[in-house]
Amino acid sequence: MKYIYGPVSSYRLGNSLGIDILSQPEKLCTFGCIYCQLGSKVKYTKERRVYVKTDEILSELTDILPKIKIDHITFSGRGESTLAENLGEAITRIKKMQKKPVVVLTNSTLMNRADVIKELSLADVVIAKLDSISMESLKKINQPDEGIRFCEILESIKNFRKGYQGRFGLQIMLMPKNKDEAEDLAKLALEILPDEVQLGTPLRKSPVMSLSEEEVFKIKRLFLGLPVVTVYDRKHCKIKPISREETLKRRGG
Ligand code: SF4
Repeated sequence: MKYIYGPVSSYRLGNSLGIDILSQPEKLCTFGCIYCQLGSKVKYTKERRVYVKTDEILSELTDILPKIKIDHITFSGRGESTLAENLGEAITRIKKMQKKPVVVLTNSTLMNRADVIKELSLADVVIAKLDSISMESLKKINQPDEGIRFCEILESIKNFRKGYQGRFGLQIMLMPKNKDEAEDLAKLALEILPDEVQLGTPLRKSPVMSLSEEEVFKIKRLFLGLPVVTVYDRKHCKIKPISREETLKRRGG
């Protein structure tokens, strides 16, 4: 398998089969998050193009799906999946060939584009990232590519959420550098009103220290009135990926 990895055990999605629709040697992203489990090297780009042909992804899926048990099929991997111009086409064709819900994890930076909004709307589940509360904290935590503005990201998330018919998750990565902003993050989450808030902290290998279970649960209580799940809430079951090496490349260890 060149483009498909996992399945992995996810606290949010159960057994999730990953699709890396970028599958480039270097991480391609609009962010260079300080906690990124794929390492600090990033090739910044905002250009949408086809990196892997949809036919090639479908051919791998056709081979693997009869052999595994999964709960979701998730677009994620070495970078920002919405950079793939064929994301919408891939979602549509995957939904036609099988019945498991299709998920896209996004860092929310391209959600201001009409084409991206249209393509994301085809997914059963969209999980959008929001780790910061201002331009200053965006720079500190997510190290965005030039021209990316915090207020635009926030507006895009709110607009998308309003029009989206599927299940909308808001993922927030907590770490020492943003834990004091948790109260403001909770206020923003209340304005967005996602179906679920997902509170993570880097538990896999990361340059950033994780918060303890106690700290994350304390923060969880700030999100009053919203359904919240944290990385410490659900037990991870051991699940064997198709290829450990390909999975490590996309998720870190
Ligand atoms: S965590 Fe996601 S959004 Fe952030 S740099 Fe890594 S791949 Fe990009």
